[in-house]
Amino acid sequence: MTEESRPDREEDFAIFNHLESEVRSYARSYPVVFATARGAQLFARDGTAYLDFLMGCSSLNYGHNPPALKSALIDYIAGDGITHGLDLYNEAKESFLRELDETILRPRQLDYVVQFPGPTGANAVEAALKLARKITGRSNIIAFTNGFHGLSLGALSCTGSRFHRAAAGQLLGPVTRLPYDGYFGSSVDTADYLDHLLSDPSSGVDAPAAVIVETVQGEGGLNVAGTEWLQNVAAIARRHGALLIVDDIQAGVGRTDAFFSFEGSGLRPDMVTMAKSISGYGLPMAVVLIDRLLDVWQPGEHTGTFRGNCHAFVTARAALEHFWRTDSLAASVKEKGNLLKSRLEQIARKYDPSRASAKGRGMMRGIDLKSGEIASRVVRTAFQTGLIVEAAGPKDEVVKCLPPLVIGENQLSQGLDILEGAIDSVIGSAVNKAA
Ligand SMILES: *Cc1c(COP(=O)(O)O)cnc(C)c1O
Repeated sequence: MTEESRPDREEDFAIFNHLESEVRSYARSYPVVFATARGAQLFARDGTAYLDFLMGCSSLNYGHNPPALKSALIDYIAGDGITHGLDLYNEAKESFLRELDETILRPRQLDYVVQFPGPTGANAVEAALKLARKITGRSNIIAFTNGFHGLSLGALSCTGSRFHRAAAGQLLGPVTRLPYDGYFGSSVDTADYLDHLLSDPSSGVDAPAAVIVETVQGEGGLNVAGTEWLQNVAAIARRHGALLIVDDIQAGVGRTDAFFSFEGSGLRPDMVTMAKSISGYGLPMAVVLIDRLLDVWQPGEHTGTFRGNCHAFVTARAALEHFWRTDSLAASVKEKGNLLKSRLEQIARKYDPSRASAKGRGMMRGIDLKSGEIASRVVRTAFQTGLIVEAAGPKDEVVKCLPPLVIGENQLSQGLDILEGAIDSVIGSAVNKAA
């Protein structure tokens, strides 16, 4: 707790405790009532400032209320721009598509069409899986250990977490789970294993419609796929007639430096799912990018009422225009990603590798504390000293830093100082207890 702040009392949360379902989750780790937010900071009702390294789980890559996006949105609203447009042609969508084409797709020679599914990541994943099954006439999907693809039933069938899967209360769709890169350590090539299974007509693995993969597993604990592994998986998918879906919902939009997380690997996914930071302002929006030749949807075959969130189109366009017409943001993410890396490694080195190790890529990095209990104490301590950060991974053992991409180096160091202090106090006391 900073000196000025005081813990919120139980009655401060009365309405939440009375009326909001037990399903609420993040709120439990950060028990204050938040009021405003700017840049890298969230402010509680009592005025206490928190540095935000959670950033809506990477939905706010440009920070809270980025000024260029805010003024575009205010102007649009003030001019009575259309808010909800089903999928009617409208100017907000037109401007977004133009900007996406000119600033992102054409310079990268990506010949995708854009599908707007319902406005969440899970909706994008559902649409991509459905289309892959329609194209190939196959039903099986290959997904990887510790993958996270959302919690609606189709997306959930691809998600690894047993906790989340169990909540479905029913058998989940046809998915074969295979080990992600490095799952058995560096000596086992899990792409080779995938190839083996798909090549053996008696392996028991049905021919897949698609392989769905994250280049960096966000919720799964910051596991990073190697370039060669990704290339091998792409080639194996192609060879076996399966489509490659890259789920870039968390790792995309500059989080790993380039706009798409797969850019450096030379991958050409058949489909790319995006959500989280695509609107740039925290407004709900999702897209599926589909190889033009694979766009076999019939009109209205996959529809939904909220596919035309014009406010999100306005901020998404402003974000592309403001941050992606040059490569300066990507360059600064590279730089700050290196800073983050060296600082996290420095913190981890203070402890035995069995207690702490740094992991991740770009500006999605963290420290594996090897114990969910220790990580949760670190999250709590960090919060009490002014930093919002969460734990991810199969046992919630990885403290995950997702600072805004536009954060200044001072605030970045400040946040890392708080994190270091929290880790020192929690692991330090654990080490002392063990000694
Ligand atoms: C968050 C996330 C999703 C699900 O997005 P929602 O908007 O929560 O449905 C899917 N895939 C990845 C990689 C994610 O990080």
